[in-house]
Amino acid sequence: MTDTFEAKGKRKKLVAELRQKGISDEEVLRAIDTVPRHLFMDPAFLSHAYVDKAFPITSGQTISQPYTVAVQSSLLRVKKRNKILEIGTGSGYQAAILAEMGAKVYTIERFRELFLKSQRILTSLGYSADFFYGDGYEGKPQYGPFDGIIITAASPDVPDLLLYQLKTGGRLVVPLGNSGSQVMTVVERTGPESFERSEHGNFVFVPMLKGTVNGK
Ligand code: SAH
Repeated sequence: MTDTFEAKGKRKKLVAELRQKGISDEEVLRAIDTVPRHLFMDPAFLSHAYVDKAFPITSGQTISQPYTVAVQSSLLRVKKRNKILEIGTGSGYQAAILAEMGAKVYTIERFRELFLKSQRILTSLGYSADFFYGDGYEGKPQYGPFDGIIITAASPDVPDLLLYQLKTGGRLVVPLGNSGSQVMTVVERTGPESFERSEHGNFVFVPMLKGTVNGK
């Protein structure tokens, strides 16, 4: 599978739609314009790749809606060469967006199958990121501290272990809440022991779960 003229055209329309929905970070929009989302999707949903919706991938998980990816990427305030930790690699699309924006990406996935598949896609597209198979609740202290941490699964509360892997001034972006609906929350580390929270609207994610799954 490769990128096509048709897909490029559809991405331009998607970017225009995201602008209308209030996304204004030009680097985020440029990345969405560049990364071929259709290559991250299940063949059954290919024709919908540039519709602003979430779709199923393997292992009962989903590729986030483009608007959601755009909001989370904007809230992270990514700068080139920032170290960003992602919990929930899934399809790898969000990781590719962050890599396209110039971040050094570390990403953790609890499903072995998705960990392997996402890595293959990013490599074939020429993006480099560090992939880990494991439980994201632990974070990756040995690679931190991070400029940003993005959780792409619904968490009932803020995982403390992750907060302490942020640099001062670093931001954790997490959809907080139980299944059904979550509030996009930013926790900024303002000092060694001080954190500030802000809320950014309602979203729906698959749940963040403990442990790993090593099936097919
Ligand atoms: N960022 C993804 C969205 C994936 S959906 C994308 O761009 O496609 C959420 C993902 O989080 C799922 O793949 C799920 O398996 C994973 N996940 C849930 N709990 C996790 C945990 N504790 N550690 C790592 N990954 C987790």
